[in-house]
Amino acid sequence: MKLSPKDAKRILLGLTPGQRIDKAIRRLEVQTVVDAVPVVHAHWIEVDGVIETYSECSACGYHTQDDKYFCPWCGARMDEEA
Ligand SMILES: [Zn+2]
Repeated sequence: MKLSPKDAKRILLGLTPGQRIDKAIRRLEVQTVVDAVPVVHAHWIEVDGVIETYSECSACGYHTQDDKYFCPWCGARMDEEA
């Protein structure tokens, strides 16, 4: 919710200082934004390379021989069904 400066002044002038602080706090609570990154689910694809077998991230194609629970390149969680 965004108030124009004129509306904000009109509302605040009718309040005591304590009420203004309460109102400001409530507005900050409403405007709180969750700073989160969506989880990407992926799986390791086993690939027979020319020299040796390796795993490839299904999300970004990163190659590794050390399967981990998260892709070290893109951060995908390796819990997806292959
Ligand atoms: Zn990846």
